[in-house]
Amino acid sequence: MKVRFAPSPTGKLHVGNVITALRNWLFARQKGGSFLLRIDDTDTARSTKAYENGIFTDLTWLGLNWDELARQSERYGIYDQARDKLIAAGLLYPCYETEEELDRKRKIALSRKFPPIYDRAALSQSQAERAEFEKQGRKPHWRFKLSGKRVAWQDLIRGSQTVDTSSMSDPILIREDGAYLYTLPSVVDDVDLGVTHVIRGEDHVTNTGAQAEIFEALTGGLRPEFGHFPLLVGADGETLSKRIGSLSVESLRDQGVAPLAVLSLMARIGTSDPVEAVESLDALVAGFDCSKIGRAPARFDPQDVKRIDAQLLQMSSYTSIKHRLAALGCDLGEAFWLAVRGNLTRFDDVLTWAKVVEGPIEPHIEDLAFAETALRLLPSGPFDETSWSSFIEAVKLKTGAKGKSLFMPLRKALTGLDHGPEMNNLFVLIGHDRAAKRLAGQIG
Ligand code: GLU
Repeated sequence: MKVRFAPSPTGKLHVGNVITALRNWLFARQKGGSFLLRIDDTDTARSTKAYENGIFTDLTWLGLNWDELARQSERYGIYDQARDKLIAAGLLYPCYETEEELDRKRKIALSRKFPPIYDRAALSQSQAERAEFEKQGRKPHWRFKLSGKRVAWQDLIRGSQTVDTSSMSDPILIREDGAYLYTLPSVVDDVDLGVTHVIRGEDHVTNTGAQAEIFEALTGGLRPEFGHFPLLVGADGETLSKRIGSLSVESLRDQGVAPLAVLSLMARIGTSDPVEAVESLDALVAGFDCSKIGRAPARFDPQDVKRIDAQLLQMSSYTSIKHRLAALGCDLGEAFWLAVRGNLTRFDDVLTWAKVVEGPIEPHIEDLAFAETALRLLPSGPFDETSWSSFIEAVKLKTGAKGKSLFMPLRKALTGLDHGPEMNNLFVLIGHDRAAKRLAGQIG
């Protein structure tokens, strides 16, 4: 079993590419298959090595490792063989129309309320007519002759599908300048490299109709299985491409988002599973199922990245996060991490709580007398997990305060803030001496 991810190195990898890469990768990993990374770089004018390297960097950062790498620009010989085979079979034919002529034909068809399908005029041209065009210096583009039949397949995601190739123009496979367009090399590679499952966006459904016939012509009937999933759209329903800049993998990485946050979102979006953090790649692999993918466009909300990133942070164990704490200079131990992780939306927020614990902070005291009373009732250190409850019980008994008017002045005095992690945990971490200082109204 083999799948492929086939990006064109003509831009930065964005979330729409990630969903394609991830679905193929999860499918392969779950079924013990192999994941081919195919660089679709036949568009030499727009493909660059920098974008190709960006693809490698981004996939590596995401943890989507590949078992095999192929570059279309290194495989022209094999496309030429396929081209010759199709020409010999009478399925690839030269067309000499110029862009303007084709445009005129389309306009005429539309004005007569016909679909703007190519009329195959070139098919009935004689050798002499072709020679005449060549003499004028015209170069042909080449079209694949569709059968005009219905192509049917059982789609892994959409179920039973048919595409009527009589409603399509014969696709151009080779341009005037001899360059291969995407359609033919993709099929040739899928055959030659043994791809068994093609999972891609539903913008390719019509392509699949044409490509199925090219598979048929080249292999006599063997073709991969296909699955087409709905495309991502922006939160307001517009296509994603307009916002691609801010949604590149690189920009997410630069914002400090965890790769697993991106993957969790992309694995869950548009499926019947809740869109939330998944604790590991292994769990994503185990949970993958094409039948969970819905048919409606998947709405991508950049806020979800942040939400899931925060969820992941809040789920992180001390061992997994220790190195990041150390890098920020605030590794205050496991108890500290467990006490504060639930209050983080960004990793950097941990600095606020490290400061609350270690000081110095300015206590926030509104009722001096209340704070003085509390200070007198402060248990002697070191504190343990029961210290906070015995302390507030004592303050309650002495002052008669309860509920919020008991907790809030103490929280503000001890942390300088009106919100934060559970006080019983913080209290232990702050410790007796700093607590005493702060209740006395001193910076500490
Ligand atoms: N390079 C093609 C694209 O990005 C690949 C499509 C396919 O998966 O067949 O659209």
